[in-house]
Amino acid sequence: MDSIGEQVSISSQLPVTYEPDVVVLGGGASGVAAAVAAARNGASTLLIEQRGYLGGMGTAALVPAFCPYTDGEKPVIRGVGLTLLERMKEAAGEEFYQRNKDKLNWVPIDVETLKWVYDEAVMDSGASLLFHTVADQVLVNGERIEGLVISNKSGRQLVKAKLYIDASGDADLAALAGVPFLTGGEQGELQPATMCFLVTGANRQRFDQYLKETEQSGQLEKAVVEAQRNGDLPEGRKKVSGIAWISDTVAGFNFGHIFGVDGTKAEDLTRAAIEGRRLIQRQLHFLRKYVPGFEQVHLVHSGDQIGIRETRRIVGDYQLVVEDFLSMRTFEDDIARNSYFIDIHLANANSTMTVKHLPKGRSHGVPYRCMLPKGITNLIVAGRAVSSDRPVQGSLRVMPNCFAMGEAAGVAASMAAKAGAGFREVSVPQLQRTLIEQGAWLGEKPGTADTVAALNERIRFDDET
Ligand SMILES: Cc1cc2nc3c(=O)[nH]c(=O)nc-3n(C[C@H](O)[C@H](O)[C@H](O)COP(=O)(O)OP(=O)(O)OC[C@H]3O[C@@H](n4cnc5c(N)ncnc54)[C@H](O)[C@@H]3O)c2cc1C
Repeated sequence: MDSIGEQVSISSQLPVTYEPDVVVLGGGASGVAAAVAAARNGASTLLIEQRGYLGGMGTAALVPAFCPYTDGEKPVIRGVGLTLLERMKEAAGEEFYQRNKDKLNWVPIDVETLKWVYDEAVMDSGASLLFHTVADQVLVNGERIEGLVISNKSGRQLVKAKLYIDASGDADLAALAGVPFLTGGEQGELQPATMCFLVTGANRQRFDQYLKETEQSGQLEKAVVEAQRNGDLPEGRKKVSGIAWISDTVAGFNFGHIFGVDGTKAEDLTRAAIEGRRLIQRQLHFLRKYVPGFEQVHLVHSGDQIGIRETRRIVGDYQLVVEDFLSMRTFEDDIARNSYFIDIHLANANSTMTVKHLPKGRSHGVPYRCMLPKGITNLIVAGRAVSSDRPVQGSLRVMPNCFAMGEAAGVAASMAAKAGAGFREVSVPQLQRTLIEQGAWLGEKPGTADTVAALNERIRFDDET
């Protein structure tokens, strides 16, 4: 954060180009849902995204599928996120639709269709969209953000909003505003990065037959082990995390790891992009040589950026911890439910994955307070950077959850804008009611908190007694 003197000089020099009620930084799953929810609930909303399209990791990094929307028995993630999933299925062509219409778990991503679906959803909601724009500075006055400095082809400008939603995945806005944050594990370890890719020229039938004959689960473990033994693939995880069939000939891969990548450092992102593309060449050789059905494949696209699973986690009013996950806790201020497993990829080639599932049909609550960053009143964080410990981040981080958190952040922002208040003054029961009315699912019996300010006060009082 800059000194007050520097901030005053910045604000007087830069043109103020936008003054919306709500600004959303980042157009990934959480940012799209946040912008749609804020705008359709009456707030003038500006969504800022550094790329020329929406979708974040799901499009820019070619993550090949949506994680489950269900707890194994029923949809847990509904609302905006579920609508967007269904729209993508419908828009991706008859074959894709027929194959996926009844699926809510691991639905493959048709990336170009998804970009378009997101554009349309944001435009239909009435939000404004600004692509090719990076936010790089925040003006703070006490506990309030007064402005966001953005940079694009038109130059540097100032955006002055009433409320700010950080959906950057990396908590960029929060970090620029001086919000404290945590990163990775106790030794600074981070989940690895992955350069996902799309191939064409595959033969799904032949591949399925091969899986059947070799009794493999779809993870290609045997072929990977053999290729590693022959030096055709690097050591590390034995499984392909995900093969998603977009059609009978086109498949998306989430395969292999690049270690030691801090996604908030440009140098690390650069090295990882180069290493990721190098690794894909070895993986293509592996697929053509070892995997029936992939002998003729061509690479059509690799991620515009390396896929990043983990960077900053803000310090918020509540930190969601692994005990909450395991005990399937419900909170008074739940704004979503999560049933996805703890899915922490290995931090180096010799360590192991951490995986922990909840029982079928069960979930835990995601409290509103874990989106509220310490020290700032008009900022909320949605998506993979919310306040949690590392194991819970390994579960919360997936796209369906990001949609749900984003939607709650957007509705809360619209309510705060109407009331001329900060995020902690939002009536939580009203927020929960609106979310439910608009299609979200908050469990069988959502809590009944008052406002977060009142809840925080009561918890502080309880702690003292
Ligand atoms: C390799 C890999 C595999 C995964 N597999 C799955 C899977 O199978 N299914 C699943 O559901 N999830 C999966 N995930 C997790 C999931 O994709 C991400 O955690 C999720 O997309 C996070 O959403 P988000 O909205 O928080 O952030 P992101 O998707 O990262 O979106 C953030 C957006 O903000 C923009 N942005 C960031 N900083 C700035 C800035 N300063 N100025 C302007 N714009 C900015 C970015 O360009 C981006 O568009 C995977 C992730 C990875 C990396």
